Amino acid sequence: MLSVTKLYRLLNNYLDKLIIPEPQCVLCTSVSQEAICRDCYHALVKLPLKSRCPRCLWALPPKEIACSNCKEHQFQFERIIASYSYAFPLDRVLQQLKYHEKIEYTTALSQLFWSAIAPHLTKLPDAIIPVPLHHKKHKIRGFNQVHELLREFHQLNPQAPLLNITRHKETQPQATLNRLQRANNLANAFEITADLRGKHIALVDDVVTTGTTVNELAKLCKQQGAAQVDVWCLMRALE
Ligand SMILES: [Zn+2]
Ligand SMILES: [Zn+2]
Repeated sequence: MLSVTKLYRLLNNYLDKLIIPEPQCVLCTSVSQEAICRDCYHALVKLPLKSRCPRCLWALPPKEIACSNCKEHQFQFERIIASYSYAFPLDRVLQQLKYHEKIEYTTALSQLFWSAIAPHLTKLPDAIIPVPLHHKKHKIRGFNQVHELLREFHQLNPQAPLLNITRHKETQPQATLNRLQRANNLANAFEITADLRGKHIALVDDVVTTGTTVNELAKLCKQQGAAQVDVWCLMRALE
């Protein structure tokens, strides 16, 4: 027969597990102290950096130096910093955060984001600009996922200045449009009034697909005098 003390201890352990569930990996739900467990972390699809355009991360044909993608889009930013491809399972996790309000994924994604960006930096930029949502979309979603991605960064770098800008227009997803439609879609979508003369800016987005949205913002930054514009993103969608 169980002693009363043992029974009490067993009951306590059981209640502890009910009340404080053991931390789980957000990807495979195995018990893990890290938000993404070691196995899942190593299985994430990293961008191969060899034979990539240093500005837009597009694949370059062997021995080719000039990037046709940069030429076609006339990118105004200096470089995109990204470590992950827009691929399973990270794409699903981000979609769960954005469209299913899985706000509990924020810790994992923001840690992953910052651990991928930080090694590429020698110093912090003068201003961080999160790609804004239109206020209607922000109201429906309740948050901007880009701000959530920046959480870990802000905790570690509370002094880094954030510059919030306005999105005037509700735009269509750029990837669904042709070139002319993309330009019209983004015309006057954003407004930047801050004086950015001589400044180093980091534009932050969750996923960069065609690059036209961040390019439109980079253009505005340069018009305001920015000396360098980098793009930080969690995932880069490539061909
Ligand atoms: Zn896992
Ligand atoms: Zn390029």
